[in-house]
Amino acid sequence: MAWSKGIAEWVEGETAYLSVAFTWHLDDVQQRAAMHRALGRRVVAGGPALFHPRMRAVLEGFAEIEADYPDAIAHHNPEATIASRGCPVGCWFCIVPAMEGREFTLLPDFPVRPILCDNNLSALPADYQDHIISRYVAEGVPLLDANSGFEPRTFTEEVYRRWKLINQGPWRFAFDDQAERADVQRVMGMLQAEPASKKRVYVLIGNEPFEACMERIQEVIGWGGQPHVQPFVKLTAREKAPHARFDWTAARLRDVARWANRFLWRSVPFEEYDRASADRASRAVPHDAQQGLFETRPVAG
Ligand code: SF4
Repeated sequence: MAWSKGIAEWVEGETAYLSVAFTWHLDDVQQRAAMHRALGRRVVAGGPALFHPRMRAVLEGFAEIEADYPDAIAHHNPEATIASRGCPVGCWFCIVPAMEGREFTLLPDFPVRPILCDNNLSALPADYQDHIISRYVAEGVPLLDANSGFEPRTFTEEVYRRWKLINQGPWRFAFDDQAERADVQRVMGMLQAEPASKKRVYVLIGNEPFEACMERIQEVIGWGGQPHVQPFVKLTAREKAPHARFDWTAARLRDVARWANRFLWRSVPFEEYDRASADRASRAVPHDAQQGLFETRPVAG
């Protein structure tokens, strides 16, 4: 089942609901809200894109903001669910701490569905991880994708053994900066027996100079994994455009992401990459629809 591509919209009675994942959709959402109002409906909006007062101001006069609509994620993808909110790690580039806080909120009665979108499963209390797993086992629902995944510092042998019982999808975790190297290397060693396609490592780029980012990508490949490269985007970006810092340009950020995410690294080093061949390749390589709500942002570290 495909994701909603960032905006979920539904009507219940006389109320229209808009859930928006990405800040660059806010102008569209404003228009959708105006349309519903013109039809005489009350409009309620929520979702990750409205984490900041400046973002909420865009919808002022168009919609009431409701931070927490129960199970809104199911309107983005009916196969998706969340068993906890928040993350204690507090990475500066991540929307989760601002949106959901640095303390976990546990949702023990979550609806069990095949795509689990918690921000950081490995940092949850061990007994709560066991609780989630026991719910999947009891209900006989396959876990096809732990979508936002695990965080390398807390992704230990114990955590791996625990989730291995039910996880049928890839092991998703991030290599966001040089400081995570030792933990990522350890995790990749731990996952040695898993096929490359099951080791999907989110690699944030643009948050460090080019060489440091490229080194992380190459290390993921060298350690037997598949990088999913995510250019740094400002949390309040009104356009879906990478933000260039250090020695990066926006074009180079896009090029590296294309080269990596279209698996061109299998046939050509980045120095020999050319965009025309990437475009041809994009028609041959299927998009990973399971990247989900946050495909342009890392939500699990
Ligand atoms: S990037 Fe991951 S580990 Fe860091 S704050 Fe966000 S969810 Fe937590």
